[in-house]
Amino acid sequence: MERITETLSILTEADKAGADEPRVLEDELAVGKKRLYIESYGCQMNFSDSEIVASVMRNAGFATTATADDADVIFLNTCAIRDNAEQKVRNRLKQLNILKKRKPELLVGMLGCMAERLKAKLLEEEKMVDIVAGPDAYRDIPKLVEEAESGQKAVNVFLSREETYADISPIRLNSNGVTAFISIMRGCDNMCSFCVVPYTRGRERSRDAHSIVREARELAEAGYKEVTLLGQNVDSYKWTSEDGTEKVNFAQLLERVALVSPDLRVRFSTSHPKDITDEVLYTMARYDNICKYIHLPAQSGNDRILKLMNRTYDRAWYIQKIDRIRAILGEDCGISHDMISGFCSETEEEHQDTLSLLAYARYDYGYMFAYSERPGTPAARKYADDVPDDVKIRRLNEIIALQRNLSLERNQRHIGKVQRVLVEGTSKRSDDFLCGRNDQNKMVVFPKENFQKGQYVNVLVTDCTAATLLGKAV
Ligand code: SAM
Ligand code: SF4
Repeated sequence: MERITETLSILTEADKAGADEPRVLEDELAVGKKRLYIESYGCQMNFSDSEIVASVMRNAGFATTATADDADVIFLNTCAIRDNAEQKVRNRLKQLNILKKRKPELLVGMLGCMAERLKAKLLEEEKMVDIVAGPDAYRDIPKLVEEAESGQKAVNVFLSREETYADISPIRLNSNGVTAFISIMRGCDNMCSFCVVPYTRGRERSRDAHSIVREARELAEAGYKEVTLLGQNVDSYKWTSEDGTEKVNFAQLLERVALVSPDLRVRFSTSHPKDITDEVLYTMARYDNICKYIHLPAQSGNDRILKLMNRTYDRAWYIQKIDRIRAILGEDCGISHDMISGFCSETEEEHQDTLSLLAYARYDYGYMFAYSERPGTPAARKYADDVPDDVKIRRLNEIIALQRNLSLERNQRHIGKVQRVLVEGTSKRSDDFLCGRNDQNKMVVFPKENFQKGQYVNVLVTDCTAATLLGKAV
């Protein structure tokens, strides 16, 4: 599947910044300290984890640098979700090898999902790598660095049933100071047949609800205006206190975070269709500061394929969820999806079911991918990856084209209406414009005037593209 260039489409301005390029943690002041450079690939969970790693490393005497050339230690926090995510990291290692040849004492560590998937094999395949650490081994990283400094290769890929890093305050070094992510759970128990996540991130576990609310409160006090609660499957969040007297589900957690401050917006991602409840939807409806936007991956619109994928719902169940969202939160609630084209044995007719589901749901956005077989997953063991690459890509492009039209249609609904926008910064296209998101997570661009980052601004939408709303402050 290397030849397939997957497309992550209908991106908003801010998404674009992170989708194709790895993100680098910024410079910290570093007098007399050793320097750490971290580059993060893949999903938001990884970016969030890198902030935890930076925090652990700060306590071990390291300061981050935004320049690989300055570093004593380089970490790549990797993704394994599709083959091309891994190829990207391998190519980056080739570049870093040049640096390492110039500076042999430089240590290179591989963190995250690719490290967990390949384990010590990575050390054999990539000779320049000194450290391999899986997603649950980040507390151990200073020790692994010490081992590597003494000339040994260091590996920890132990997956934990308890680790949530609840007590570690992430260092938000490349934050815009307005929006932040809070990791509320780790791992996944769902076992979708195509997915490597249960093997690389381990069993699902929920973080202490009090530590989550505390983190949200600290962020609000530091001037942040929006938090996104993160997990592979946030709706199955379930935390019980050690003495068993307190139980918190996702709807209750959402409410607690919403109550931190009416000025703090709350978002969450990702919802699994089988777990999102009416209780969650009614909680969203009750609080103005819980954004009316739901990311609800479908993966396919066809019952047979959904069964092969082990998604545990069928098309009718998924449609009924969409209907509930619209009934409880109204037509304007933003909904986005993930969709996979060309899963094992998918026929042309079955692909048409995916297109018709898109048309039914009228999604605002989509993240769309060609199926990439991952070694060791149930799909790789049981089903042949038999849809030819060119067919996968053609189907993917059909899904993307339809989504683009739907996104445009959905955005046009906002023309002539006033949107409350949280300003995230200057527009990438021009310094004279600001950009920020509305409630439904749509990027809105408007003339700067005297407005500033972190302010809520009422913007009248006058025009749009499939990705962005354009307007002026009123
Ligand atoms: N936990 C989330 C869920 O189930 O909705 C998604 C997590 S995954 C990191 C993000 C997306 O990657 C999935 O929703 C799926 O569309 C896509 N994905 C996962 N495995 C894939 C594979 N083997 N090939 C292509 N896309 C894949
Ligand atoms: Fe992967 Fe499915 Fe878990 Fe999402 S819910 S992370 S697709 S196994």
